[in-house]
Amino acid sequence: ERFNITDLINEVLEMQEMRAHKNGIKLNFIQRVDAPKFVYADKKEIFQVLNNLIVNSIKYGKDKGTTTIEVMSMDNKALIEVRDNGIGIESDNLPRIFERFFRVDKSRARNMGGSGLGLAIVKHIIDAHNQSINVSSTYGEGTSFTFSLDKSK
Ligand code: ATP
Ligand code: MG
Repeated sequence: ERFNITDLINEVLEMQEMRAHKNGIKLNFIQRVDAPKFVYADKKEIFQVLNNLIVNSIKYGKDKGTTTIEVMSMDNKALIEVRDNGIGIESDNLPRIFERFFRVDKSRARNMGGSGLGLAIVKHIIDAHNQSINVSSTYGEGTSFTFSLDKSK
């Protein structure tokens, strides 16, 4: 279906406002001038993708940190980036991050709660849309996830 990506991101941000506030994280939404307004995808599923990525950025963020959601355009695609300046992921662990039940440093991660399914679901949804998702991270500095969607007029 065709939907307004700005509206959907704002819905997710509103939903996670409390969690962000409790964790001392600022939520920041940037739309590039060329950012597409409409995309074509399963709205409910993309809500879940955004929600899982944003919840992670808050959970694994640092106090007084920022989560930034940025929408941009590349060729015929919409690109959506969720980035944080949180704890980051060691490069050894990065290739496994989309695996089911994979969690970095199990003992510490257990205290935070979660099952290690969030990113596996994200990857599954993006694959089912024939789109791509990329992650880059610097341990101790922060993490960035970028995924693509088809633009719609
Ligand atoms: P769930 O999402 O099922 O509640 P989870 O958050 O542990 O649990 P995933 O969302 O799949 O599971 O993430 C897997 C692991 O990747 C996390 O346990 C965490 O170690 C690491 N991770 C994910 N996102 C980030 C991030 N933004 N910054 C640092 N580490 C992250
Ligand atoms: Mg998660």
